Amino acid sequence: MKIGVLALQGDFAEHIKMLKQLKVETVEVRLPEQLKGLDGLIIPGGESTTIGKLAQAYDLMEPLQSFGRQHAIWGTCAGAIFLSKDVRRDQPLLGLMDIKVQRNAFGRQVDSFEADLNVPELKQATGKNGPFHAVFIRAPIIEAVGEDARVLASVGDKRIVAAQQGHLLATSFHPELTSDTRFHEYFLSLAD
Ligand code: GLN
Repeated sequence: MKIGVLALQGDFAEHIKMLKQLKVETVEVRLPEQLKGLDGLIIPGGESTTIGKLAQAYDLMEPLQSFGRQHAIWGTCAGAIFLSKDVRRDQPLLGLMDIKVQRNAFGRQVDSFEADLNVPELKQATGKNGPFHAVFIRAPIIEAVGEDARVLASVGDKRIVAAQQGHLLATSFHPELTSDTRFHEYFLSLAD
């Protein structure tokens, strides 16, 4: 299995580290041709407008969209925003996932927080039990999921922070900043 990590901006190095820990071959993706032969792609956290503008500048928008129609993509935080269809403001979006997102929905940088989430799918994919400790940094909320998408996790009972649409995955938080590999394992099961 070979997984790419979009390496235009943000915390791509942490995702690569985690994938290596899981013995997965990794590629830093900055150019369209680097998508060739990949089984899946992770779009890291960072700043979604910057990631979008750089993706336009590197002629990656269309290649990423066609990759996502065939293969697994996982966006964490800014990556989830970039994957979405609607953020109620003008910025470059891949529009692959039928989710509506509100940026910085928990407040400013100082309002960053951590929370334990109940994610039943992780147990099915990894056989490992227990809540997932999630790190939120100026995180978005997934306000609504479309017909083809489903909710994987929420904070409290209303605020959606993880969703899936077929082989596409979006999380508001950063599993790559913890030592828990279960979300990465779950994504690998979608890329397989
Ligand atoms: N606040 C950033 C944005 O809206 C996302 C933050 C993150 O990726 N941790 O793009």
